[in-house]
Amino acid sequence: MSRDENDAVSFHLPSWLADYATSYRTDWSDDERMLFVIEASRRNVVQGTGGPFAAGVFEIGSRRLISLGVNLVTTEKLSILHAEMVAFILAQRTLQTYDLGGAGMASHELFTSSEPCAMCFGAIPWSGVRCVVCAARASDAMAIGFDEGPKMVEWCEELKRRGIDTVRDVQRDAAREVFSDYARLGGRIYNSREAT
Ligand SMILES: [Zn+2]
Repeated sequence: MSRDENDAVSFHLPSWLADYATSYRTDWSDDERMLFVIEASRRNVVQGTGGPFAAGVFEIGSRRLISLGVNLVTTEKLSILHAEMVAFILAQRTLQTYDLGGAGMASHELFTSSEPCAMCFGAIPWSGVRCVVCAARASDAMAIGFDEGPKMVEWCEELKRRGIDTVRDVQRDAAREVFSDYARLGGRIYNSREAT
């Protein structure tokens, strides 16, 4: 390991992602917004660019899309690159802030095609988003072999205590279909070493 190799760290976004993001419209309903995110997860599977998960950060009120992330764990060989983490990284770089709920800023929300795992749950309060909207349940991801890691059972209540709302089951069936496709196509399943 040379020191030069660690002067900067980067990862690559799939080449299709930016074009796809331009199809977003701010007048869509919450269901339509979630379907837009889920379609990104489906394309990630079809294009072979990562796992069956996607997430987006939106400005609350204007519904402006700040960032769209997909799971890049296997393709970029980085365990932290869950869709929610990618969405947070891109949003914070775009807005040039480590706190998406900083003073004087618009509020932001996260739409995710699957409920957050332990890592992404932990990242939510740090990110500064004020609301998390989820499609598939963690149990849906677990049904094809993923696991959510050591996450507290009362995670929604914990977020609420920190002033962050949670909305669940928005277009859950559509997100589950992508999981089924991924499993059928033999997509790689990795996990957090859940005790057996
Ligand atoms: Zn995660």
